[in-house]
Amino acid sequence: MKNILVRYGELTLKGNNRNHFITKLIQNIKFQLKEFKEEVVYTKDNNSLTLGVKEEVFDQVLARIQNVFGIYSLSIIEKSSLDFDEIANAVLKIAEKSSAKTFKLEVFRKDKSYPITSTEMKQKLAPLVLKNNQHLKVDVHHPELKIEVVIKKDHADIFDSRINALKGLPVGVSGKGLSLLSGGIDSPVASFLTMKRGMTVDFLHFMTPPHTSAEALTKVFDLAKIVAKYNYNRFSLFICNFTPLLEELNHIPNQTYKINIMRRMFVRIANQLAFKTNSKAIITGESLGQVASQTIESINTINSVSTLPILRPVLTYDKEEIIKISKQIGTYETSILPFDDACSMFVPKNPTTKPKLREAEFNEKDLLWEELLNHTVQNLIEEFVWINGEFVKKEEE
Ligand code: ATP
Ligand code: MG
Repeated sequence: MKNILVRYGELTLKGNNRNHFITKLIQNIKFQLKEFKEEVVYTKDNNSLTLGVKEEVFDQVLARIQNVFGIYSLSIIEKSSLDFDEIANAVLKIAEKSSAKTFKLEVFRKDKSYPITSTEMKQKLAPLVLKNNQHLKVDVHHPELKIEVVIKKDHADIFDSRINALKGLPVGVSGKGLSLLSGGIDSPVASFLTMKRGMTVDFLHFMTPPHTSAEALTKVFDLAKIVAKYNYNRFSLFICNFTPLLEELNHIPNQTYKINIMRRMFVRIANQLAFKTNSKAIITGESLGQVASQTIESINTINSVSTLPILRPVLTYDKEEIIKISKQIGTYETSILPFDDACSMFVPKNPTTKPKLREAEFNEKDLLWEELLNHTVQNLIEEFVWINGEFVKKEEE
């Protein structure tokens, strides 16, 4: 058995919500580790959780929990009773395993009733380490090895490193949002960043068969799968057939408004779907000024058809910054596969960069979009539910 200490970090600051957040976090961790039910034992205390993990699955468990939002940092710890000799043995064990030349000891007494003070502990432990490890020297400023001893109420934790985790908030504590997922680089990153603040994410993709291929659709499923490991345990991917509406958009008098009006249709559909499925926000991967259709004027004309707030987590990010995150979360290689989604295929030659709301409304006036939109929402959206690591098509009731 090896032990992993999980620190909650920011969660400890959240007043009344704290218990709710911690319960959610533990539930999310257990869900990520559900195939290791027999191999992991959970022990909770005030500011942390300890997982006792069987050696044979230790690496897998450590990798999995690093994808869970709401964990501040992790340490692989030696657990000891409060007996001084046992603590000293654990410290020596860590020192022996290390190839460092310099070290520093830190002792924290979470339980002040422990009879030996932190300073006394250090004064007793350091000479033991030096005696047992002739090659080690003390360096309090830049130690290669830092051994920390944390004295708690009924045991002590001893460890030598803190692994940075994803931080953020446990997914599920901030409700649910509907993310417009294209096959590109930006929208998976925007979805990930929304999950980071505790929001469960459902996805909505617009396809336009036969103009878009089966590969383009597979790519969208793959992207949703990749970010599933950060998402809540249950979520949906909605696939909307946008072809009838797209064909209607050919009748817009001013074709430079086509993309803008297409976006307005996307958002109208997203609003209707979100109300049905209890999502409280819409999420997009728009980034200010990235392309001609992502100006503040365009954002305004899009927002004006939305009742729900539209969250744009990467609005202020440079492309490079977005790419960096997409590589970290593993979506980049899939995003750059060359299969076009609805948007990239129908960019008119000169899309307007400064659309005006009145002009957009004027251009929609003579279209038959309302009937078509209702028809699309009612009949042309398929739902796929993430269950046990795969998408399962939801059949009509
Ligand atoms: P991405 O890399 O996310 O595709 P992009 O830079 O290519 O973004 P656009 O194609 O202009 O930008 O789309 C802006 C946003 O609109 C996307 O980030 C996504 O949220 C949404 N979107 C675009 N096309 C689709 C689609 N076919 N289905 C669902 N959402 C879409
Ligand atoms: Mg795109």
